[in-house]
Amino acid sequence: MQFSYTQDQQDIRAKVREFALTKMEPTSEERDEFERFDRDIFDSIGEFGWSGIPWPQGLGGGGSDFLTYAMVIEELSRVCASTGVMLSVHTSLASWAIHTYGTDAQKQTYLFPMAQGKKLGAYCLTESESGSDAGAMRTTATKEGDAYLLNGSKLFVTNGGEAEVYIVFAITDAQNKSKSCTAFIVEKGMQGLIFGTKENKLGIRSSTTMELRFEDCRVPADNRLGPEGEGFRIAMRSLDGGRIGIAAQATGIGQGALDALVAYQEQYGVRRSELFDASFSEMATHIEGARLLTYQAAWRKSKGLSYGKQAAIAKLFASDMAVKVCLRAVQLCGVWGCLKESKVERYLRDAKVTQIYEGTNEIQRIVISRLLLSETT
Ligand SMILES: Cc1cc2nc3c(=O)[nH]c(=O)nc-3n(C[C@H](O)[C@H](O)[C@H](O)COP(=O)(O)OP(=O)(O)OC[C@H]3O[C@@H](n4cnc5c(N)ncnc54)[C@H](O)[C@@H]3O)c2cc1C
Repeated sequence: MQFSYTQDQQDIRAKVREFALTKMEPTSEERDEFERFDRDIFDSIGEFGWSGIPWPQGLGGGGSDFLTYAMVIEELSRVCASTGVMLSVHTSLASWAIHTYGTDAQKQTYLFPMAQGKKLGAYCLTESESGSDAGAMRTTATKEGDAYLLNGSKLFVTNGGEAEVYIVFAITDAQNKSKSCTAFIVEKGMQGLIFGTKENKLGIRSSTTMELRFEDCRVPADNRLGPEGEGFRIAMRSLDGGRIGIAAQATGIGQGALDALVAYQEQYGVRRSELFDASFSEMATHIEGARLLTYQAAWRKSKGLSYGKQAAIAKLFASDMAVKVCLRAVQLCGVWGCLKESKVERYLRDAKVTQIYEGTNEIQRIVISRLLLSETT
């Protein structure tokens, strides 16, 4: 076991930190207030080579690993959690699914430009009747000649409307629903793909969350991702890895709240007390625990080891940590912590959703206990 970072990892962390502070921080409040998605940020991330960190260079990626990727999500989220989730969904969910299940042609057409930051990805699983219970999905895909006709709708799609590439899950055999979920790559601009309402959210307000409707949306059969009936497995395996991104996002939010609290203390000359010392050290300890759990899951993924349990544990711990740390930070800032001008107010709002998406924390507990039991039987 090794607990040191490579020079490359240290360099990339420093670069991301500088980028986040100089290019993202100045507009973070305004983007949050007006729910403004800033495509320039994703373009810059692409130019730096951070939009495809774990994919091979031959596929347009950075040829690096998931640990480095987790560090990047953490550092971005430390300043702006909306940017963190935008990149996490793009990489861990959309790009990963194509990298793992895509044909060579699909990788060239979609993954390559995604890894280069030329196309943004999204992942469409949730529906009105199908959140935690993905099996209740209703969107259908009916084969017609050399295409599938998609009908139905998806909710809460991160990067919705902004993304060019959508991984969509639909039922291909209504008679045998449990075995018939299939994944598709749907492109922005395909006829019958309609962008619906953009959600007005509590937190991560500068990431877009949108409803998508499919009305006889004609998707070429070549855009089916993996075999028919493999969709549910693709969806669940994507979420296993996605949870590493969300754990990294939550770790960054917790760290950002602590940074803001320290800055507040210095700016307002708040008298240091035993209470502050105890709170700082407790917050830092919990953040470090989340970081290590996240990095462990990311490291296992990079090494080709099983990581589902570690990712769920990291997501559960880090998201609960983020909410607790942010609540404490608001409390310690007193009334200032409740004002819009205080960053801790935004961090608290951003932290909450990490307990909900990519499997709520109630679902994480079920996942973890099932995996633990399967190890002992
Ligand atoms: C900002 C945001 C972005 C999102 N982005 C995406 C995205 O990009 N793509 C996508 O597909 N989805 C996305 N989602 C949807 C998200 O993944 C779902 O909201 C989440 O899976 C929970 O589903 P639900 O909201 O329908 O809650 P429900 O499933 O209705 O659950 C409601 C409550 O019941 C609890 N519960 C449900 N089942 C059980 C059980 N078996 N045991 C114990 N408790 C249970 C849940 O934990 C929760 O507390 C996003 C959501 C948000 C808020």
